[in-house]
Amino acid sequence: MEPLAIHRAPGQLELVRALINTKNIEADGEEWQTSEDLRAWLVAHELLRGDHPLREADLSRMQQFREALRSLLRANNGHPLAAGSTAALQDLIGTATLQVVFEETGDARLEPAAGGVDGVIGRIMGVIVAAMHEGTWPRLKACFNDGCQWAFYDISKNRSGRWCATTICGNRLKARAYRARRRSE
Ligand SMILES: [Zn+2]
Repeated sequence: MEPLAIHRAPGQLELVRALINTKNIEADGEEWQTSEDLRAWLVAHELLRGDHPLREADLSRMQQFREALRSLLRANNGHPLAAGSTAALQDLIGTATLQVVFEETGDARLEPAAGGVDGVIGRIMGVIVAAMHEGTWPRLKACFNDGCQWAFYDISKNRSGRWCATTICGNRLKARAYRARRRSE
């Protein structure tokens, strides 16, 4: 399912990229069909304890959270940020509060203050806020192809990458544009 390994994001940001790609828009694939699928994914990515029960409401909240993040990734790729999308994201974050934890070295980090899905969302938001400060966030993009929207990390020098994989999406789109031009001639 991964187009190219070079499009993985650095550090913890890869977790965000992986989360968004649990839905494959092009193939109409959904890894989180049931709350049990979601639980297994979260446990495998060390975001949830194995014995933590999840409800249907948790599943739909996580699916909505994922798509709200995808809209931010589309904005990172030059699409206008859809009206109300940050307000919707804020609603989904809701009770997923973060706390500042000081380490013995004097460094501070953000940790989720809640468990369950609140803890998962808090952890992801902590990663995103850190990436925004580090400057890696604008490189995490959703493929410019509306039929794809695969999350990828743009490694181009001038941050101009638009497609999840040039050899796949880019070429296919160019071929489609070429055919459309020929038809209209
Ligand atoms: Zn793509």
